[in-house]
Amino acid sequence: MGCVLCPRRCNVDRQAGEKGFCQAGWLPRVALADLHFWEEPCISGTRGSGAVFFSRCNLACVFCQNHDISQPGAGEIGEEMDPRGLKDIFFALEAKGAHNINLVSPTHHSKVIAEAIELAKKEGIRIPFVYNSNGYESMETLRFMEGLIDVYLPDLKYHSDDLAMRYSSAPSYFRYATSAILEMARQVGTPVFDSQGIIRKGLIVRHLVLPGHIEDSKAVLRWIKGNLPAGTFVSVMSQYYPVHRALRFPEISRKLTRREYDEVVEECLKIGLEDGYFQELSSASPEYTPDFLRKDPGSRT
Ligand code: SF4
Repeated sequence: MGCVLCPRRCNVDRQAGEKGFCQAGWLPRVALADLHFWEEPCISGTRGSGAVFFSRCNLACVFCQNHDISQPGAGEIGEEMDPRGLKDIFFALEAKGAHNINLVSPTHHSKVIAEAIELAKKEGIRIPFVYNSNGYESMETLRFMEGLIDVYLPDLKYHSDDLAMRYSSAPSYFRYATSAILEMARQVGTPVFDSQGIIRKGLIVRHLVLPGHIEDSKAVLRWIKGNLPAGTFVSVMSQYYPVHRALRFPEISRKLTRREYDEVVEECLKIGLEDGYFQELSSASPEYTPDFLRKDPGSRT
């Protein structure tokens, strides 16, 4: 059957070896599965988030910090996993103490991931599943994830379609991502935390502020304020640094300035978006990005 797992609707038969925009095979490749401590505090907590990084992606962001595993041209990094193998990874992360299973860039493997989650739930996994997505999602995919995902953690990267095309080659990104986020909000609602402040259920919308595009960030925040329920958490990220192909785009080939980030934070507070997270500018550093090419890949768990 042709792949229509994301808005690109490539309609290629991935189970027969055909490749679409994302260049992914049918079975997911897990580039890294380990405890991760650099997500929002309610996700990473004290023991870490059980992050499962999937290779390939349905976006082609010129500034992708995970480009070693996500982009066409990246080698075939990671081991292929069937649903049972993936389910075993989930249990191994739970046994290591992870607060949750954090599915990083899951969209293009959502069918296989859904099977793995069903198996894990049948076998009694206790920690929540986090769908950590770039926001470029189709409604059909989100509908079959309903009931399997506890926490949605989508990006809302751009308001402007011109920026979405220029930097991510993503037609109609804003329309697809906002429809997806409304569906996510319908499924899981605003965040619910346990007694330790760790999220058990709910939606957190992320936005990475890009240098030179502050007005676009403000428009994204205004959409969130105007369209999502009170109590929606927003994570306004300052961790941008120019990597991958970003250096070919002079306007984003630098880090964000404090003044730019402060202006976005001020807008956030001015319009009454008070629940969520801001970031230190010192987060804009490669040391917070996993090294997928290290010789000793550590535990793929
Ligand atoms: S998941 Fe990949 S192959 Fe499928 S529609 Fe999206 S980009 Fe195309």
